[in-house]
Amino acid sequence: MLQRDVKDNLDEFIRVESFLDEEREYHLDKSCEWVSDLLAELEEKLEEHEKDPENRAMTVNLKIKRKGIPTYGEGLIVRGDFQGNFLTPCVKCLAPAAETTSGEFEAVFITDKFEKNEEFDENLSVWADNSELEVYFHDRGKCHIKKVIHEHIFLTLNPYTLHSEDCKGLCGICGSDLNHEDCGHGAQ
Ligand SMILES: [Zn+2]
Ligand SMILES: [Zn+2]
Repeated sequence: MLQRDVKDNLDEFIRVESFLDEEREYHLDKSCEWVSDLLAELEEKLEEHEKDPENRAMTVNLKIKRKGIPTYGEGLIVRGDFQGNFLTPCVKCLAPAAETTSGEFEAVFITDKFEKNEEFDENLSVWADNSELEVYFHDRGKCHIKKVIHEHIFLTLNPYTLHSEDCKGLCGICGSDLNHEDCGHGAQ
């Protein structure tokens, strides 16, 4: 009987040697401290009273295993996906606006002895375990798993969030929120 053992918590730093070649699975949400920290960071540009800690959410699914990587020694292979929803300021009027993030990745941690290698100057990836894996470096076996998800989240972020498609923005003269008031400056 094969029983799937899915864990719901994981430290933000994990050690290569605590994993085996058998894949382990993790389904994390904001009850995991560093996932919660990622969400808090996504809402950090809002005023305290504008944030919505109750309703923001994130799931992170991970599959992790240890494997010997040709040339680079022991590696920790991490495949995963994430999705989240949170609030962020509208770029025009600064009101809290609903935003989402989602993505997936395939990565491998190898020792930071290779960090200065020429082959990683331009392309931080290696082919191993039948995939093109993004390369991250571990410090004597210590892998910062949160960093992988953090980087991927910030790559997906919409740089032009609007609270509504027809947001009128703020008046350039007096700063009034033109969605709620007509200061009269727009007429000129
Ligand atoms: Zn707006
Ligand atoms: Zn005005």
